[in-house]
Amino acid sequence: MFICSNSEVLKADGLNNTTDIIASIAVLIGLKLSQKPADEDHPFGHWKAEMVASTVASFIMMVVGIQVLVGAITLISLGGHESPDIISA
Ligand SMILES: [Zn+2]
Repeated sequence: MFICSNSEVLKADGLNNTTDIIASIAVLIGLKLSQKPADEDHPFGHWKAEMVASTVASFIMMVVGIQVLVGAITLISLGGHESPDIISA
């Protein structure tokens, strides 16, 4: 990844945007699948695909959130981090 600003918050936001795309694709697939009518394999329909998609999306968000949190706590406790470049503004 190309990082020129040395800014943790921009990195966190960029990570969030990237995983948002992945989560949105998971939600789109889940919504598409949940529209399918009931068939032999799934006599009650496919609505649970939406629940699976929301579980996947929330899990992605949770993992990224924890990763950013742990990274920030690590940086604070270790110290030695330089101020972000003015270009990050
Ligand atoms: Zn089916």
